[in-house]
Amino acid sequence: MNTPLKQHLIDPEVCIRCYTCEMTCPLQAIEHDDNNVVVNAELCNYCMDCIPVCPTGSIDEWRVVNNAYSLEEQYSWEELPEQQEIAADNGDADLDALDEAMAKLLADAHQGAGGKSKAPASAAKPTINLYNLGKPVEAVVQGNFRLTEDGADTHVSHIILDFQGHPMPVLEGQSIGIIAPGTDGDGNPHLPRLYSVSSPRDGERSGYNNVSLTVKREEHGICSNYVCDLKKGDTVSVTGPFGATFLLPDDPEARIMMICTGTGSAPMRAFTMRRQRAVGSENGGMTMYFGARSPENLPYHGPLKKVPENLLKQYLVFSRVEGMPKEYVQDRMLMHQAEIGEFLQDPNGYVYICGLRGMEEGVGEAFEKIAKGINVDWTNLRDSMREEGRYHVETY
Ligand SMILES: Cc1cc2nc3c(=O)[nH]c(=O)nc-3n(C[C@H](O)[C@H](O)[C@H](O)COP(=O)(O)OP(=O)(O)OC[C@H]3O[C@@H](n4cnc5c(N)ncnc54)[C@H](O)[C@@H]3O)c2cc1C
Ligand code: SF4
Ligand code: SF4
Repeated sequence: MNTPLKQHLIDPEVCIRCYTCEMTCPLQAIEHDDNNVVVNAELCNYCMDCIPVCPTGSIDEWRVVNNAYSLEEQYSWEELPEQQEIAADNGDADLDALDEAMAKLLADAHQGAGGKSKAPASAAKPTINLYNLGKPVEAVVQGNFRLTEDGADTHVSHIILDFQGHPMPVLEGQSIGIIAPGTDGDGNPHLPRLYSVSSPRDGERSGYNNVSLTVKREEHGICSNYVCDLKKGDTVSVTGPFGATFLLPDDPEARIMMICTGTGSAPMRAFTMRRQRAVGSENGGMTMYFGARSPENLPYHGPLKKVPENLLKQYLVFSRVEGMPKEYVQDRMLMHQAEIGEFLQDPNGYVYICGLRGMEEGVGEAFEKIAKGINVDWTNLRDSMREEGRYHVETY
């Protein structure tokens, strides 16, 4: 068996022991005793036949492991073990340096939090660095759809990558690296560019091993143009996953505030879909401030209109609509000072900021004003929120 391995497991806390999966599996990979229903990692070939027949969804659990959990271990479980942090050991100093370069890129992107970020206490454990430049994984493009309208001045694409039989265990808020083909001016392969995952952990389509990205075409940009030009069926070299702090709390009561511009909406889409699938509308609440030049330039403008208000409260603001005053996310935040002031002081309120680096200043100033209104020093409040895993910034 190749390692690390993506192991198919069953959640013993949710499973109702109806054995439909066992009767469905064409390889007899599923068996049971008086306690649990379990999957034999030696036999399961990820055919997915058992996923749609399970009435509880307990069959759709996956962990990336270096050594597969044995049947004996699975029989003894009362609950599923958490995903352990797994990092690939490539044993190559040059490649270790590249992993460090990726880590530095992420640390730079998180600088706006004012210090070293921490993951929310209830967040699932992420897998990181499973694939790198020396050992990338091949994904197949399942679809590439333009999100911004044809006449819009920005081109943003929604790309779906299918990892087929290969494990790609991503959590919402993580990024993956894409390696553009060819070499740079020095004849070295292009370094991977990071892109936030915009689909939830169980796939763009629930139960499928696929991941979506939200990529903006940059003029003269090597990787963004490569990605935006990909066609269905093309293969792509991928590294990652990366990022261990910009993660969603698993606590359904957690309140989430998302502030984003442009492709910064990618992780926010993943968060929203995760909440919708895992907890539904009965949750602590999600609010989004989303800025773009105009509705035509706002990725996911159409689909967002279909998201119910009791799942996600949306404030879409535009800075370049003819005949309308310019409005930025911070302007709208300042219209809600009392609510945001209360939110910042709630130990269960989590803030996520993502988008172009330029947005940090205005959003920071708005928070400063809001904090002043509740007689709190913003820097102290931000630092304590960050320590509690409640304040997250990813800008690039
Ligand atoms: C944590 C993180 C998450 C990210 N998530 C996303 C995401 O979800 N979606 C997204 O779209 N991006 C995201 N990015 C940005 C992404 O990683 C790339 O930086 C971006 O796509 C540009 O890469 P590129 O290879 O196209 O541009 P590069 O080739 O690296 O060029 C960089 C810049 O230089 C300019 N340039 C290059 N050559 C020339 C030239 N000859 N003349 C003039 N200008 C030139 C380009 O315009 C470009 O803006 C993220 C970055 C980080 C760090
Ligand atoms: S994925 Fe396929 S092989 Fe694996 S347990 Fe389910 S039905 Fe059996
Ligand atoms: S089909 Fe689902 S609920 Fe039924 S035994 Fe299998 S895992 Fe459990």
